[in-house]
Amino acid sequence: MVQYQLVSRGIRDERVIWAMSEVPRHLFVPELYRHAAYEDCPLPIGEGQTISQPYMVAIMTQCLELKGGEQVLEIGAGSGYQAAIVSKLASRVYTIERHAALATKAKGVLKQMGYDNITVITGDGSLGLPEKSPFHGIIVTACAPHVPRCLADQLEIGGRLVIPIGNPYHQVLHQMVKREKGIEDRNVLECAFVPLIGEEGWKEE
Ligand code: SAM
Repeated sequence: MVQYQLVSRGIRDERVIWAMSEVPRHLFVPELYRHAAYEDCPLPIGEGQTISQPYMVAIMTQCLELKGGEQVLEIGAGSGYQAAIVSKLASRVYTIERHAALATKAKGVLKQMGYDNITVITGDGSLGLPEKSPFHGIIVTACAPHVPRCLADQLEIGGRLVIPIGNPYHQVLHQMVKREKGIEDRNVLECAFVPLIGEEGWKEE
């Protein structure tokens, strides 16, 4: 997975490559799909949600540009896999999931595997986590219609927001860096995520 899906496609951050080699992805995938845990695709995790494609996890993590001492917020805990990868490269990770069943499951898997620097929270992550802000990095693993104002506000100066923005037909992954005078915005690649549903996301139908 690491050589053929990540390195050959341009993942260059040695620490990201190391983390992706270390975390056993199959433990975050339901039994039914474990045989495909290292394939080049997202997989169902229940509640109509997915664990993202390994390449997407790697490039989003690389976009955070972590050095090791940071506090990071993830929106969309899902299986807990992305949080596990980020936790290897930062000092503390908060991850929010709107589906209580997924949050409970992710919490259990992460605890069993001994990750003690990740806090899983059930709730609407489109509002961020103001009581723990500011964050050096915020990673959103669901597609927002626009940049949620709360998330930009909760980023420290020099911090990075990695977020897919768009609609069900066209989405682009953005890497945004907060500066004193505003936000620098870079388009990373086209992507396809489930919707960010919440007060600052899409409205539930
Ligand atoms: N990062 C996950 C992983 O490693 O398995 C994959 C995330 S999945 C592509 C997107 C997740 O975002 C889903 O589990 C979905 O329920 C969650 N989600 C969508 N809107 C949300 C919101 N407002 N707050 C928190 N989680 C949300």
